Amino acid sequence: MPTKKNKSTLPRLRLGAGWSYAPAPESAASARINEQYELFINGKWQKPAKRAYIDSINPATEKKLYRAAVASEQDIDKAVVSARTAFDKYWKKMPANERGKYIFRIARLLQEQARELSVMETLDGGKPIRESRDFDVPMACNHFFYYAGWADKLEFAFPNRAPRPLGVAAQITPWNFPLLMAAWKIAPALATGNTVVLKPAETTSLSTLKLASIIEEADLPPGVVNIITGAGDTGAALVRHAGINKIAFTGSTAVGKLIQQQTAATTKKLTLELGGKAANIIFSDAPIDQAVEGVVNGIFFNQGHVCCAGSRLYVQESIAPLFIQKLKDRMATLLVGDPMDKNTDIGAINSAEQLEKINYYIRLGKKEGSLHYESAVALPKKGYFCRPTLFTKVAQSSRLAQEEIFGPVLAILTFRTEDEVIEKANNSPYGLSAGVWTDKGSRIFNMSRRLKAGVVWANSYNLFDPASPFGGYKESGYGREGGVHGLLPYVSF
Ligand code: NAP
Ligand code: MG
Repeated sequence: MPTKKNKSTLPRLRLGAGWSYAPAPESAASARINEQYELFINGKWQKPAKRAYIDSINPATEKKLYRAAVASEQDIDKAVVSARTAFDKYWKKMPANERGKYIFRIARLLQEQARELSVMETLDGGKPIRESRDFDVPMACNHFFYYAGWADKLEFAFPNRAPRPLGVAAQITPWNFPLLMAAWKIAPALATGNTVVLKPAETTSLSTLKLASIIEEADLPPGVVNIITGAGDTGAALVRHAGINKIAFTGSTAVGKLIQQQTAATTKKLTLELGGKAANIIFSDAPIDQAVEGVVNGIFFNQGHVCCAGSRLYVQESIAPLFIQKLKDRMATLLVGDPMDKNTDIGAINSAEQLEKINYYIRLGKKEGSLHYESAVALPKKGYFCRPTLFTKVAQSSRLAQEEIFGPVLAILTFRTEDEVIEKANNSPYGLSAGVWTDKGSRIFNMSRRLKAGVVWANSYNLFDPASPFGGYKESGYGREGGVHGLLPYVSF
């Protein structure tokens, strides 16, 4: 057991009360945001048939940012028909190396306009500018670069087989990584010779609309990529359309199940990237300070709006008091506030609805009897914000430990043996990702073999690479995005 002197290990930074960082805001001026956006269909910006629009706000200020068109069935039909025509007329006939050049051009243009895209992503979604600038946008570029390289090498991806494109791919993305999710979907679809109709999430369409203008600038043949905006009904109508060959969906497990039911009796191919409740597992021989950083990165990164967030922390009993104290000390230094400030660690929660969902789970955790702790950081008066929060004394069967919260809320549990923690970690309807922190290589191999999770990070967390596949087990979905595996859902033989 730790002694009393272990209680506090870091000097406390009394941010707000004692001292603080000077503001370091990124300028919003680099983003040219239109007041209104139309639908990008057949290479042209077209008004929605019903002339309906929805507002999107900046969740850090609650102010309106722009309005986006709402695509109805008529618009969706137009988009699918134009994708089909583009498939038959241009895309499937084009030599593969030419297709690759277009994808490469998109990557270069994304890179050139990276600053504007980062600012848009942060203003629209609430994530810290540091993350959109250093993670979302460069990673999106890298996916286009990576898949540009595969376009004319498919025979090496599938040796002795003759891969053929499926046709028109309907793609639906969530609000947590809008540009990156669009890149994960569009790049492999184009590389394999498919055409696309993509619908971004209602609250965060801006970076995807900017991507549409980049695709226009890259001079892709009209209709190869169509971007249609709108809410859930637009997504549902796209899924129902008889003219699509494939659906790639990233979002909640509930909607994923609905889509699975709707497509069960059709020939539409389906891949689902759904929710998660990842176990981040700390053994007593782990490098403790690095592990604390990994846990912070795993759950507080992007406000916990991450499908693979390490939202269940399993700490070996012998180090639990020390580890939890170090974690609380680190949490006390996290800055919550203006997402445009380069010092900010935790930005705005994406919507009022999502903040209410997180607060519901915080209330529920208290009611279930778990011990609640949150940092004392001051929150901005306007906007949707949440302090980094943890719960100890969490029961394995509690809803806090079983359900996806999608916010900066960590459930901490303890364990004694390797077998016990594997059993507990796998006792979840989800299976997207996991983390293991230990000094022993043999234990890492044993754990990664036995954990039912698509990705297992060892002594690290939330690392991504376009060459590495990502995807889930169980209710976290099926199919892989990224890497050579990410080509498979877009071809038939
Ligand atoms: P969501 O509510 O399921 O929405 C995802 C997308 O589907 C949005 O574009 C949404 O449109 C649309 N949609 C809503 N209802 C639909 C329907 N009936 N048919 C077709 N499309 C429909 O999920 P979210 O709240 O945006 O995103 C959070 C979820 O995504 C979390 O569960 C998270 O774990 C998951 N996620 C998973 C991964 C992964 O790779 N596994 C990655 C990121 C996120 P509107 O938003 O406009 O309603
Ligand atoms: Mg918004």
